[in-house]
Amino acid sequence: MGTADIIDGKAFAAGLRERIGSAVTELKAKYGEVPGLAVVLVGEDPASQVYVRNKGKQTLESGMASFEHKLDASTSEESLLKLIAELNADRAVDGILVQLPLPAHIDSQKVLDAIDPEKDVDGFHVVNAGRLATGGDALVPCTPLGCLLLLRDRLGDLSGKHAVVVGRSNIVGKPMAALLLRESCTVTVTHSRTADLPGECRRADILVAAVGRPEMVKGDWIKPGATVIDVGINRVDAPEKGDGKTKLVGDVDFASASKVAGAITPVPGGVGPMTIACLLRNTVEAACRRRGWAMPEL
Ligand code: NDP
Repeated sequence: MGTADIIDGKAFAAGLRERIGSAVTELKAKYGEVPGLAVVLVGEDPASQVYVRNKGKQTLESGMASFEHKLDASTSEESLLKLIAELNADRAVDGILVQLPLPAHIDSQKVLDAIDPEKDVDGFHVVNAGRLATGGDALVPCTPLGCLLLLRDRLGDLSGKHAVVVGRSNIVGKPMAALLLRESCTVTVTHSRTADLPGECRRADILVAAVGRPEMVKGDWIKPGATVIDVGINRVDAPEKGDGKTKLVGDVDFASASKVAGAITPVPGGVGPMTIACLLRNTVEAACRRRGWAMPEL
C-alpha cells in the first residue's frame, strides 16, 4: 500500500480558465465580439446565490459577457418560459444556464427543454443528452466533462480501461458513463440497487463516485493503483474543529482510499472547481458553433 497522487482539480481548473481567457481574447481580435453567458436564478436559495455569483464573476474574468437574471421566488412558469424565449432569440447570448433547483411550482424539465439546445451549456436538454448517447456533437454536462478532462490529463488514452461509475443521475452518473464509453472504456454503472457494490468497485481501473453519501466508498473497495474521481460534495459535522463546526467531504473515504488508489481527487479542490471552468468552456464552444467561428484549442 502506498500513498495516492493527489489530482489537483483546483490547479487544472485555473489553467483551463487561463486558456479560455486567451481564447476569448483571440476570438475578440478575430471577430470583434465575445461569447456571452446568461444565468437565470429564481428565488433566494443561499447556495444557488453563491453559485450564480461565482459563475458571473468567472465569466467576466475570462473576458466574456455575463447576463444575470434574478427573478422572484413567486415567478410563474409562464414568465420564466417567456424569459427563456427572449434569451434564445438574443444573438448576444451564446449560453443559457438556469440554476437548479427551481421552486416546486415550476416544472424544471419543461424549462430546461425550452432552452435552445445550441445554447444549452449545462447539457441537460434532452437533445444534448440524446446526442451524447448516440455519439453526436453534444454540449456535455459540466461536472462529468470536468471529470473526463482530469482523467485524460492523468491517464492519457482511456481505451480498454474498466470504469465503474457509482450513481446514475441525469446530471452526473449517466452522462459520465456515456463519456467514458465514448472514450472506449468498458463501463459499469452502479446505483442503490446494485447487488455487490464493493465487489463492482474493486474491478475498476477508473472509479467515479457520484452518490451524495459522505465517505461511503472505502479503501478496501478500491483496486490497488486505481484512479479515483470523487464527485461528492457533502457537508458534515466536524466536532474536531470545535462546537457546531462543519466541513466538506466527498463520497469517498479519502483517508483509507488514498492508501490504496494510484491517484485520487480531494474534496474540496478536486472536481468542484472543474464544473464552472467547464461551463465557461461550453460557452466558448456554443458560441463558436452557433456563430461559425473556428474553435480555439483549449
Ligand atoms: P443524485 O441524488 O441525483 O443521485 C445519486 C445517485 O447515487 C443515484 O443514482 C442513486 O441511486 C445512487 N445512490 C444513492 N445511494 C446509494 C447507495 N447507497 N449505493 C449505491 N448508489 C447509491 O445525486 P447527483 O448525481 O446530483 O450528485 C451526486 C453527488 O455529487 C452529490 O454529493 C452532489 O453534491 C455532488 N455533485 C457535485 C458537483 C460538483 O460540481 N462537483 C455537481 C453535481 C453534484 P438510485 O438511482 O438507485 O437512487
